[in-house]
Amino acid sequence: MTVGVVAVQGDFAEHIAMLNRLGVATREVRLPKDLEGIDALIIPGGESTTLRRLFDLYGLTGPITTLASSGLPTWGTCAGMIMLAAKLTDSRPEPLGVMDITVTRNAYGRQVDSFEADVEFPQLGEDPFHAIFIRAPAVAAMGPDVEVLGSLEDGAPVALRQGRRLATAFHPELTEDTRFHRYFLELANPSNEA
Ligand code: GLN
Repeated sequence: MTVGVVAVQGDFAEHIAMLNRLGVATREVRLPKDLEGIDALIIPGGESTTLRRLFDLYGLTGPITTLASSGLPTWGTCAGMIMLAAKLTDSRPEPLGVMDITVTRNAYGRQVDSFEADVEFPQLGEDPFHAIFIRAPAVAAMGPDVEVLGSLEDGAPVALRQGRRLATAFHPELTEDTRFHRYFLELANPSNEA
């Protein structure tokens, strides 16, 4: 199995390091040809307006939208989640529209630009996951096919799944906890049911 990691901007190196720790082959995705033959794709955190601009510049927008919409297991973290959304409450950037979620960027305001929280994810086992939020997006609305995997104490969903697509508002790649990456690999495994 080879996991492509979009490497035009953002914290792709941390995702790659995590996947390598798990013994998974990775490919840095900068151009459409890098998407050939990958079994899953990660869009990392960074800055979504920049990501969108670079996707357009390198010709990635169309191919990634098509692949993610037609079943390539795809995971967006933070800015990556913004990219996967169907709609944003902001006017920029234009998201790819591959998950049925509406997202608000920088949802936690200036005072709490960044924060950390221990979040329960039943799928990951009993221990809560230490989630790091950096200028994080929030989910304003979601469609009926979207499953919430975990929420903050105030009820705000922070990890969502729709079939083999996964979105997290936080950054598992910035921790030592490999459980979210392992969860995505299970989701991406073709022998498991979506
Ligand atoms: N605030 C960023 C954006 O709007 C996302 C931040 C992140 O990925 N850590 O794109």
